Amino acid sequence: MADFTSHMAQALAEARAAAERGEVPVGAVVIAPDGRVVAAAGNRTRADRDPTAHAEILAIRAACAALGSERLPGHALWVTLEPCPMCAAAISAARIERLYFGAEDPRMGGVIHGAQIFRHPQCHHRPQVYDGIRAAEARALLQSFFESRR
Ligand SMILES: [Zn+2]
Repeated sequence: MADFTSHMAQALAEARAAAERGEVPVGAVVIAPDGRVVAAAGNRTRADRDPTAHAEILAIRAACAALGSERLPGHALWVTLEPCPMCAAAISAARIERLYFGAEDPRMGGVIHGAQIFRHPQCHHRPQVYDGIRAAEARALLQSFFESRR
């Protein structure tokens, strides 16, 4: 992939900003087919008092609003942590073409762990999945966040 550009640095920056707001540090970025950043977000479940305000959901919502469409064909989503089942379902519904994520999440993940949403027969759109991108950094952010709250 000669034209491969990683957007994980920006997703990690969103995760760090979320931690500074007292949110679980997860960040997500949506990239248009031409490589433009269409949306970026960090977790806001506490700030918004909204259990669905995960970084991926917020980034998809913002990208759809910017595009004026409920689907994002050809778009890529970068996220620092393996998406949960809710976010994986939203990624499928939005027709995201490629999913890049950082750390695995054996406890809450729904892509390679748990519900494995994209492998389910009811899943009609499966993105290409690339995992383990800068996973150590994403994991370290989460670890230090949870240790600091003990
Ligand atoms: Zn989620």
